[in-house]
Amino acid sequence: MAVNYEVGPEYRRFNQKNNVIMRSAWDPALDDYSERSKQAITGHIEKGDRGFGHLDFAFDTGAMAVVSSFGTGINRPNSGFTSWEPLSTSNEREVPEELKVDGAGSPAELQSKVRRVARYLGADLVGFTPLDERWVYSNHFLPGKGEDGKGENPPVEFPQGCDQVIVMGLGMDHDMMATAPTAIMMTETHRNYSNMAALSGSVAQFIRAMGYTAIPSLNDTALNVPLAIDAGLAQPSRLGPAITPEFGPRVRLCKVITDMPLGAVKNQRDFGVIEFCEVCEKCADSCPVGSLPSGPRTTEGTNISSNPGVLKWYANYESCRRYWAHVGTNCGICIRVCPFNHGKGFHHAIAKWLITFRWKWINRLLVRMHGWLGYGEQKDPAFFWNGSGG
Ligand code: SF4
Ligand code: SF4
Repeated sequence: MAVNYEVGPEYRRFNQKNNVIMRSAWDPALDDYSERSKQAITGHIEKGDRGFGHLDFAFDTGAMAVVSSFGTGINRPNSGFTSWEPLSTSNEREVPEELKVDGAGSPAELQSKVRRVARYLGADLVGFTPLDERWVYSNHFLPGKGEDGKGENPPVEFPQGCDQVIVMGLGMDHDMMATAPTAIMMTETHRNYSNMAALSGSVAQFIRAMGYTAIPSLNDTALNVPLAIDAGLAQPSRLGPAITPEFGPRVRLCKVITDMPLGAVKNQRDFGVIEFCEVCEKCADSCPVGSLPSGPRTTEGTNISSNPGVLKWYANYESCRRYWAHVGTNCGICIRVCPFNHGKGFHHAIAKWLITFRWKWINRLLVRMHGWLGYGEQKDPAFFWNGSGG
């Protein structure tokens, strides 16, 4: 069985300033992103490109409303719904100290209650892990702040004792993601970010009401993929995002970091993803700008946006991001074509079971069958407005 990751002595914590999205704020190599993206969108609307119309982009604006309003941001720590301070709500109740629930039981019982609350509030997947500080950003990046407006880069510091992580995943709609790249696909990713802001903020507020500290977080503050791996929700993959048994790479991740005594231990799982990626390469072959690697895993990064020192597959996020600007939306072709990005069905369950045996010849056959059966083809985005599927 392959190990999910190996971390070398050269590894250093990642500075969020080098995240490719943050670099648009300070790096001349990527600072034309917004302008190029705007031009691409106007061009699509003028030409009447399917899935890129005014209606489609208006749909996206609506889906993103929660995560882009009241100060909340996908990559912005300690903001809006994901504030590190208790949110001001109208239903705060004073509970006398002697009547407080004493931790609501053992760590296992606490985990069970948090899982139940998180599922109720919208999480499809919930896992727990101790906080491995290697996955915490060394520094935040706050665009637009600072004297020159180019952004501030303060170190990440947590309240004392916050060493437990609740990792949560939200599955994305298969048919909408199958239209990638379009504004319909982008809407589905942004809907999930909005839901994640509400979910992580609400779970954090529940934990605070129980008497503990809670730090809700989307893509800020710490790396979601290794946390999800440590929590047993996912495995790493060639295309970068974590692959889950339930949704493949079609999942968004968020977390709450807390001092609640959850007693989490690392619980990595192996359901055959690494061995499958070793023979597959569909994402690398399908990427329009060659941003994904073929061949074996390495510890070498591609540029400052990929942090070296971990044995894995490294994407070139610079060329990927430039392609997003060229298209005017995020892309998602690699997610669309991935054989783990299946819908529901008995035959998919059989394929997943076969993959756990890690037989190369079976994996090769499954990759071929995925192509023969037409999986991963782009879906006409008009389906959404015509009401067929979705
Ligand atoms: S999102 Fe698109 S451009 Fe980026 S790696 Fe995937 S396929 Fe390539
Ligand atoms: S497309 Fe293939 S190689 Fe790429 S992540 Fe999916 S299974 Fe792995």
